[in-house]
Formats: sequence, structure tokens, C-alpha cells
Amino acid sequence: MARERQRSPRTSPRLSRRSLLGGAAAGTVGLTAVSAGTASAAASRTVDVAIVGGGIAGLTAARDLVAGGRTVAVLEARDRVGGRVVNLKLANGGFTEGGGEFIGPTQNRIKALADSLGVATFTTYNTGNNLLYKDGKRTPYDTSGLLGSVPPVDAAGLANAAIVQSELDSMAAQVPVDAPWTAAKAAEWDKQTFESWLNANAIVPSAKFLLDLACTSIFSAQPRELSLLYVLYYIAAAGDESDAGTLERLTDTAGGAQESRFVGGSQQVPIKLAATLGDRVVLSAPVRSIVRSGSTYVVTADGITVNATRVVVALPPPLAARISYDPLLPAARDQLTQRMPMGSIGKAIAVYDTPFWRADGLNGQAVSDSGVVRSTFDNSPPDASYGALMGFIEADEMRAYDAASEADVKAAVLADYANYFCDKATSPTSFVLQRWDNEGFSRGGPVAYATPGVLTQYGAALRRPAGGIHWAGTETSTFWTGFMDGAVRSGERVAKEVLAALG
Ligand SMILES: Cc1cc2nc3c(=O)[nH]c(=O)nc-3n(C[C@H](O)[C@H](O)[C@H](O)COP(=O)(O)OP(=O)(O)OC[C@H]3O[C@@H](n4cnc5c(N)ncnc54)[C@H](O)[C@@H]3O)c2cc1C
Repeated sequence: MARERQRSPRTSPRLSRRSLLGGAAAGTVGLTAVSAGTASAAASRTVDVAIVGGGIAGLTAARDLVAGGRTVAVLEARDRVGGRVVNLKLANGGFTEGGGEFIGPTQNRIKALADSLGVATFTTYNTGNNLLYKDGKRTPYDTSGLLGSVPPVDAAGLANAAIVQSELDSMAAQVPVDAPWTAAKAAEWDKQTFESWLNANAIVPSAKFLLDLACTSIFSAQPRELSLLYVLYYIAAAGDESDAGTLERLTDTAGGAQESRFVGGSQQVPIKLAATLGDRVVLSAPVRSIVRSGSTYVVTADGITVNATRVVVALPPPLAARISYDPLLPAARDQLTQRMPMGSIGKAIAVYDTPFWRADGLNGQAVSDSGVVRSTFDNSPPDASYGALMGFIEADEMRAYDAASEADVKAAVLADYANYFCDKATSPTSFVLQRWDNEGFSRGGPVAYATPGVLTQYGAALRRPAGGIHWAGTETSTFWTGFMDGAVRSGERVAKEVLAALG
């Protein structure tokens, strides 16, 4: 095993005790502050593997590479780890999750990682009725009935939606998750948008409403923006080696991807993982260039240069494209990253003294055909010591509010919450807004998706290494791409790949 060398080691600023949460959440009660490195002027390290990105994927790769006897440096642009997973401080001393939050059945790798770090899960609050708000009318509905979690639109719409859902699942079953572009009908499916397929199949307006809602809730993008093949791949990936992916598993709370949450918040996972890596993780170190020099890669970040035999880039494709590479990346890889935009997403969390909607028999889960927030969850802590309503702002709604003042977003969100949960919702004790499109090192979320024609032309470049540069990040996962589980799987896969390459 090569020994880690640090030139200009631990010069000012020294390795400091600082919160990996950074920013607003620093010092929040109950959250772990750990030691990590900070980039210091002219610092330089030589390691086996430089890892770009301290999200769940990059940190998982680091864990496995270290376990495999390799030296690593994780360069993270932000002043915290976790990337698209972040705990945000609340005025009442609690916290809320601004990014990835839920896990569910078949998401075995994130569960195993959390278990290994002692981060427990609890069941998402799901007692009482869901709520459909459509055409200005509130309809509470029981999800234990025959329809399950499907919102009770008219009978014709329900029948049509059931057929469409089953058709999507059976088409997805024909898509190999490790190479969607090899599906027998890949060319036919990749040349159309999800919208064009829905227009031909979800012919009842209320069925189209349900499918549109599912689409924006899953991808934070409109059906017109997504390749049908990509949507089918995403459905196929919502499972594991023994359970085929289904659309239902993507959308459901009980039995689906929203079933559970992490005690202490999802960012506990990357925070605790980073703590095991100590000063191998360097914060506030945005990587600007990756230059090959003989058999070494010189990875230059603000304040630190890392020389490494191999590089793992654990970023969503469009963010990876913002790094300068010398030699240039293969054309297919660059063209791929030019064609995978991030979804547009924000979360709005209103905090109340109590989860008052529970007394009305509601579980806090509403879906709607109007407003800025069109799906909500009860994000109260497990002990319900206060109430928190979380709403997603997605796709066209998010874009419309990316540049709005926080006061304007708050007013629009609370008007929606009042429509769904009564006027009490207009008087929260505090309000938190996280707009991912405006985050410099994410520029949207939850995932970078493929537009038509991309997977069939460039899909193979998603994971194919470019010389000694390897690719990770949830977008490269075969199962649960787009999710925390996919991030873990991608980190595990890339570590194996690099260990094999290093011999
Ligand atoms: C609002 C929202 C809700 C979500 N909900 C869920 C959910 O409920 N369940 C679920 O499983 N998933 C959810 N997700 C998705 C989930 O958060 C992601 O799939 C997962 O966190 C991705 O991890 P990653 O490590 O692949 O990428 P990231 O978390 O994006 O990590 C990449 C890291 O690289 C850093 N970086 C970027 N550029 C550079 C650079 N040039 N140099 C150095 N570092 C750089 C970033 O700061 C970041 O830390 C959600 C995401 C969002 C945004």
C-alpha cells in the first residue's frame, strides 16, 4: 500500500475541528461535528486515489478504497459533506432535511451503510388519510382501501391510470438496468419523450394528471423533458437483484421509497461516514482541473493539489463537466454530460407548535393539481414535539420561483398549505426554504436525467473510465439511480473497479 505523503502538511489553516454540516446547520444540537481537513494554501498530497466530491457516493468509495489498503483524499467543494443530503437548523433548535431524506424496501445498500454507522431509521408518519386537492376541492382518502395510495380521481381515470402503470412496469421489465441502451426496443423508446408516450396512452385527463404528478414528483422534471427509455430504466432500477423495479415502489410511502426516515436526519449518514475517514476528507476544496502528467493525475482544487494514480469523480454528470480535463475527455463522455440536466427542485418546510393536521385525521400527505407545492409530507420529528409540513417545489413550479424572494415563495407555499390543511397552516413558527437550483455545487436535483436520444447514443459513457478517471455518483448506479441507495452502490462499484485497476 502506498503511503500517504503530505507536503506542506497541516500548515495554516491547520486541520480544524469544524462541523461537517457547515453553514446554517453548524452547531445544531444533536448533530455530530467531526474533524476534517481544510484546504490550505499551497497544500499538496500524494495518494493512490483522489476522490472528487464528498457526497454519499464519494465517501462510500473512499471507505472501500481505504478498506482495500489504498490511500485516498476526498476533495469536497462545500464546507460540509453530504452534497444533496443536508440537515438544516430550525429556529426551535430542531432540524429538518433539505435534500434526500426517505429510504424504502430494496434500498439495501444505504440501509446497510446506515446500520454500520449506527444511524437508525423510523417509519415515515403515515397514519390517517391522504389528501387530494383537485379543481379547488379537498378530498381526504384512505390508502388502506382497494386503490392503495392512488388518489381517487374519477373511475375512468383510475382505470386508465392502472392500465398505464401496468404497461410501464412491463416495458420497464424489458430494460436491463446495467445497459438500458441494449433493450430490444431501446431505439424506439429513446426517440420519444415520456410526454408523447403519455399523450397516446393516458388518454383520460385525470389519468394524465396522475401520471404527470408521478413524473414531476419522481424526477422534478416535466414529462416533455424526459426520454421514455430513461423513465423505463428508472422504474426498472427501483428494485434490487431479486426484486424487479416498479413504478409503485417509486411513488409509495408504505412499501415504497418514502417508507422510512433516518433518526437524527439523513445527513447523519455522510457525517458519520466522513468521521471514519478523518482528515482524508478535505472541505472547501472545489476541484477545478484534472491534468494527467505521465502516470500521475494532478487534481487541483482551491487551496490544495492532489497527485494520484487514479481519480474518482463522484459528481452528477453536469457538475463533472464543469471541471477542466487535460487531456480532453473522450467526446462521448463530454457529449453525455452536455445532455443530462439536473431536475429543478426545492423543499419548503413550515414548522408549527404541533402537527395539527393529525387531529383532523390527516397524515400530512397531500397531492394537488395547482399551487407551487403539489406534494407534501409530515416531516415532524418521531416524538411529534413539534409539527413540520414539508412540501416539494418541482420542475416548472420551481423554475417559476427560482428567482423569487423568499418572502414571495413563503407566501405562495403557505397559501397552498392552507388549502390543503386549513388556515392554521398560514401561521408557522418558522419556515425553511432550500432551493437546489441555486446551489452552486448541485444546480438542481434530485437527479441528472437523460433527455431523448442520450442513453442510446452515449449511455455507455456513463461508467466507462476515461484513462485513469473513474465515474461514480447516483446517476451511474444500476439500482436506485437518483437515490441515496444508488449513491452508495455507485461508490461500492467504483471502489471495486479502481482496486482491480490498481492491482
Ligand atoms: C430535494 C431532494 C430530495 C431528495 N429526496 C431523496 C429521498 O427522499 N431519498 C433518496 O434516496 N434520495 C433523495 N434525493 C436524491 C439523493 O439526495 C441523491 O441521489 C444522493 O444524495 C446523491 O449522492 P451523490 O454522492 O451521488 O451526489 P452528491 O450528493 O451531489 O455529491 C456530490 C458532491 O460533490 C461536491 N462537488 C460538486 N462539484 C465539485 C467540485 N468541482 N469539486 C469538489 N466537489 C464538488 C458537491 O458539493 C457534493 O457534496 C433527493 C435529492 C434532493 C435534492
